[in-house]
Amino acid sequence: MRHRDEHGMGKVTGFMEIDRQLAKYQPASDRIRHFREFTIPMSEPEVQKQAARCMDCGIPYCHGPTGCPVHNQIPDWNDLVYNGNWDEAIRNLHSTNNFPEFTGRICPAPCEEACTLNLEDAPVTIKTVEQAIADKAYEMGYIVPQPAVTKTGKKIAIIGSGPAGMAAAQQLARAGHEVHVFERESKPGGLLRYGIPDFKMEKNFIDRRVDQMRGEGVTFHCGVNVGVDKSVDSLIEEHDAVLYCGGSETPRDAGIPGVAFHGVHDAMPYLVQQNRRVGRENIDSVGWPSDPILAGGKHIVVVGGGDTASDCVGTAFRQGAVKVTQLDIRPQPPEKEDKLAVWPFWATKMRTSSSQAEGAVREFQVATLEFVGEDGVLTGVKCCQVDERRKPIAGTEFVIKADLAFIAIGFSGPGTDSVLKDMGDKLAIGKDKRGGSFVTANDKDYRTSVDKVWAAGDVRRGQSLVVWAIREGRQAARAIDEALMGSTVLPR
Ligand SMILES: Cc1cc2nc3c(=O)[nH]c(=O)nc-3n(C[C@H](O)[C@H](O)[C@H](O)COP(=O)(O)OP(=O)(O)OC[C@H]3O[C@@H](n4cnc5c(N)ncnc54)[C@H](O)[C@@H]3O)c2cc1C
Ligand code: SF4
Repeated sequence: MRHRDEHGMGKVTGFMEIDRQLAKYQPASDRIRHFREFTIPMSEPEVQKQAARCMDCGIPYCHGPTGCPVHNQIPDWNDLVYNGNWDEAIRNLHSTNNFPEFTGRICPAPCEEACTLNLEDAPVTIKTVEQAIADKAYEMGYIVPQPAVTKTGKKIAIIGSGPAGMAAAQQLARAGHEVHVFERESKPGGLLRYGIPDFKMEKNFIDRRVDQMRGEGVTFHCGVNVGVDKSVDSLIEEHDAVLYCGGSETPRDAGIPGVAFHGVHDAMPYLVQQNRRVGRENIDSVGWPSDPILAGGKHIVVVGGGDTASDCVGTAFRQGAVKVTQLDIRPQPPEKEDKLAVWPFWATKMRTSSSQAEGAVREFQVATLEFVGEDGVLTGVKCCQVDERRKPIAGTEFVIKADLAFIAIGFSGPGTDSVLKDMGDKLAIGKDKRGGSFVTANDKDYRTSVDKVWAAGDVRRGQSLVVWAIREGRQAARAIDEALMGSTVLPR
């Protein structure tokens, strides 16, 4: 039974007495010398103090609907941490989130944006508390396999081992089903392993969860490209349900002239290669070119302003790039948002990622006109300024020197995936406004147009966030359990 004080919150006056503190980073000059995580863990007493700032709001905006997508019970575990009840805190956190050690590291934390204390620019450091709960739980040995006591005799195949597939697999195995995860890459984890760099999240955290899931009866079949090595029809025939969690990894076509110059690459092959290097794997990966792409001693231009672009920036600095310039077509956002107009929603304001803070030159309101080069080799990126409607402003053209350019302007869906090719017209595909595609299924029952086939995660919703993938995996698991068993106790 957890203890709450008579007022039901960490420390009644905590938010007035204690300043918001964030976990500190190693200095940029040190952290770019390695690929490991660089956040200096907060001390346990400091984490408890930070948790004590929570006001246990009557309407906890952090919890949802604009806050946490998995509806973590944030005020409850803030109180538990303040009271040193780490055991109950991880139990509570796990009741809504299978992998808090992932989200505690790499979630952009919409919960903090929605926190009432953000009205004063000092939200509770929810993400740091979440990571601390998960790390402490591992340290204390609280995280062990929880195999189902009763087996159902049902067999489920999951295509893809990203956070959506992993969350669904864990939920379904714990409900007593025999779960088989098919993954085309050599190791499980999806973009967590091969997209997101180690300096944001080291991969041993995935390995530990995979070990736990194996202990719960999940079988991972890696190196199996479904649609090529094994047909979807055979999976449907051999299983009671098939859940497609294949992600959304086809790069959006930028339509920029000059992409054929040697030195112009999509972001993904670059990031995947470096993740494989750090993981001491061969750099060959399914579907991506395998010529080494290295930024050491080079001038780099990154086209795009999002997370993937930032990850290219941080990777290039660690490889020893001379200069990294990042081009964003959007106007430079204001330093501070109009709080009352946007809270508790995600605000557009100037944000500087840790990678950008390592020395990137950021250009805003700039369009990439073409890649230029000599003898087939990239030498520069021709750009111009754009107006508020993204129209080029005449006479503002300039060329940035570049030996390597990365295109990181987003993803257009599962487009080229072999599952789609194998299933042909049977699988209904939707189109978004920007020409991207997604597998059609709603977020209630997650059923596709094909009998016995469900879909969840980025393949269904488009490239998104790890926390949304976890939510979809959990909800799809519940839908499948209910469809197979007639009822379910799995939470949504
Ligand atoms: C570079 C980058 C950085 C990001 N950074 C962040 C971040 O900091 N925070 C955040 O919250 N989100 C981030 N994201 C988004 C996040 O990684 C994704 O939204 C999330 O991983 C989606 O999970 P998923 O399980 O749906 O798909 P994925 O993680 O893409 O996993 C899909 C898996 O399916 C496998 N697969 C596909 N087709 C087949 C097939 N035919 N046979 C077998 N296996 C198959 C793939 O190999 C892959 O392992 C980032 C994305 C990228 C690209
Ligand atoms: S909104 Fe902030 S202060 Fe209120 S309950 Fe959530 S974390 Fe605590």
